[in-house]
Amino acid sequence: MPSFDPDTIRCDFPILERLIYLDNAATSLSPRQVIEAQVTAEYNYRANVGRGIHRLSRMATHQYQEARETLKKFLGGEHGTLSFTKNTTESANIVAQGIHWKKTDRIVTVLQDHHSNLLPWYRLKNDGLIEDIDAVTTVSGILDPAEIETCITRNTRLVALGHASNVFGTIAPVKEIADICKDKEVLLHIDGAQTAPHLPLELEKIGCDYFSFSGHKMLGPMGTGGLWISPDVSGDDVPVPLCAGGGMVQSVRGTTFATVDGPGRYEAGTPNVIGAIGLAEAAQYLTRLGMKNVADHSAALARRMIEGLAEIPGVRVYTPADAPLIGTVSFTVDGVHPHEVAYLLDEAAGIMVRSGEHCCQPLMHALCLNGGTVRASAYCYNTEDDVDLLIATTEEIAGMVK
Ligand code: PMP
Repeated sequence: MPSFDPDTIRCDFPILERLIYLDNAATSLSPRQVIEAQVTAEYNYRANVGRGIHRLSRMATHQYQEARETLKKFLGGEHGTLSFTKNTTESANIVAQGIHWKKTDRIVTVLQDHHSNLLPWYRLKNDGLIEDIDAVTTVSGILDPAEIETCITRNTRLVALGHASNVFGTIAPVKEIADICKDKEVLLHIDGAQTAPHLPLELEKIGCDYFSFSGHKMLGPMGTGGLWISPDVSGDDVPVPLCAGGGMVQSVRGTTFATVDGPGRYEAGTPNVIGAIGLAEAAQYLTRLGMKNVADHSAALARRMIEGLAEIPGVRVYTPADAPLIGTVSFTVDGVHPHEVAYLLDEAAGIMVRSGEHCCQPLMHALCLNGGTVRASAYCYNTEDDVDLLIATTEEIAGMVK
């Protein structure tokens, strides 16, 4: 059983001595080990990868490929292809722009999802490359697989699904949805931005086709992330690379060229080698903590937040208490703008939370929440004390408007 003790974990994040960090759904902190792995790489084997024969180049190439294997193992996707990207947004766009769409194709999206898992698909419709989008209109945070199934038509080519809502913090039943997609021969793209940091993942068991994630939300460096593609994806469903250039090419003859097979296809140009090494260290750090421990801890803190906040007069909690959760809770305080609540939480108690629309305008419009919500999101280094201080300070803020 991997060891899990938030008080010990906190020692790896010195900034936590000075403040309470509850903005992990936006970006997590990075532990000492991740920063040191990058510094070590910078000092000892900073070189380009896959291009040189000298010692530094070979060392960098080896570490970069090792990082890829570490990430594949972390995601439970050893047989798939894992390309390093900048973030979830880039990964989703590689899929959206790379698939050879037919004008009759339709895509199913979920209204409550993040812009980064909506706009890449909406754009295809706006550019006339597909027939239309069929949107699941759920705005409660709880997604019933039957709602996806109802939206799938004869022409549906792909379902774009958020694994966990970055507003509600609820986890979608991806396995059931993947089974429906398999049954109906529809592709499944999962936006894993909010689940790669929190859940033990088994992508091959889930049975999705594409999985996008970001490193900066899972203790890794900014500007890192990945796109995993299932080994079952073939033919026109294998995205054509968005970028062409050095590193992704097998041969060039005249003006024609053939791309390499495998992950390098989507990594044209010099990749973020040091970032990939840092991201792999983050995955190893999380593996040492045990992803089941991380998941249980974050969910327990979310439930504590819901219970405490829901009791405060004037506070509305939007995260459903009885759903599977990742650690994120959205709420509003009557009479106080979410940005003001966030500002006051910081000023009064040094608590960092996010406020606003959370890149989910369609959801916020449907809920008629013009200012959005306040979002507190816990992770492995947060404690019950952090949550209790959030609740007590929110109570003071709510009390000010009586
Ligand atoms: N999807 C979800 C569910 C997210 O929460 C986020 C980040 N807030 C993204 C996609 C986009 O991630 P990134 O900005 O790292 O590309």
